[in-house]
Amino acid sequence: MSIARLSTQNASLIYTDGTRRTFALRDVSVELPSNKFVGIMGPSGSGKSSLLYVLSGLKSLTEGTASFGSFEYRSAAQKDIVALRRNKFGFVFQQPYLLSWQTAFENVLMGAPKLGKEAEEDARRFFCDLGIESLANKLPPQLSGGEKQRVCVARAMMNRPEVIFADEPTASLDHANGRTVVDLLARYRTSGTVVVVTHDPEMLGDADNVLLMRDGGVQGWSDGQNLQSSPNTILSAHDAPSRL
Ligand code: ADP
Ligand code: MG
Repeated sequence: MSIARLSTQNASLIYTDGTRRTFALRDVSVELPSNKFVGIMGPSGSGKSSLLYVLSGLKSLTEGTASFGSFEYRSAAQKDIVALRRNKFGFVFQQPYLLSWQTAFENVLMGAPKLGKEAEEDARRFFCDLGIESLANKLPPQLSGGEKQRVCVARAMMNRPEVIFADEPTASLDHANGRTVVDLLARYRTSGTVVVVTHDPEMLGDADNVLLMRDGGVQGWSDGQNLQSSPNTILSAHDAPSRL
């Protein structure tokens, strides 16, 4: 299946607070490869979340454009952006939000575009594929943070999205649990694009491409293996092309 490309062109996102202006994004022009595990990495405040929200149509730009294939957010109606997100995107956030009075299985079912037998079979399959069958009938308060996040990953896959966006999905987890969650996300690259925002290079060892950010701008591209083998990559990435 060919998946549309996520891209931005001269994208700037500026927050104005009184007379103070903060560039969350500064003239960012990027194209993310499709059907890949793409990392977005940089220190806190570098604009990673802003870029993820702009690419997924959750935030509007101050200047420039952001697109999913030929779908350009700025010229689209809000209801079409909402429909795009519901039908083609899946999201995983830092905190695993689950309804505490519903079982893990029921929480995952809620990610389905339409309830019914087919959705239930899908959900059951995701629980098996992700190795979390034993969690299906538990309530969220009975689950650890890592287990909850795995349930959130299953929920994000229920609409068979073309893109899964994950913003710091491992930030509240220990290293081992973080890796498990990222590995589950990474496996989805055979079905769609996986975009994972993190400040932790160890979570991106398996990434196909890693966009390096600093001060709201793009420093360059690397890949997971280079991040591991040369910790200086972030500094030398100044010389890397900002587009693939
Ligand atoms: P990251 O995810 O890399 O930590 P963000 O995209 O959240 O970075 O933020 C980029 C910059 O924009 C930071 O300087 C942050 O303080 C600022 N920023 C983010 N959201 C807001 C907001 N709602 N109001 C004002 N400034 C913001
Ligand atoms: Mg962030």
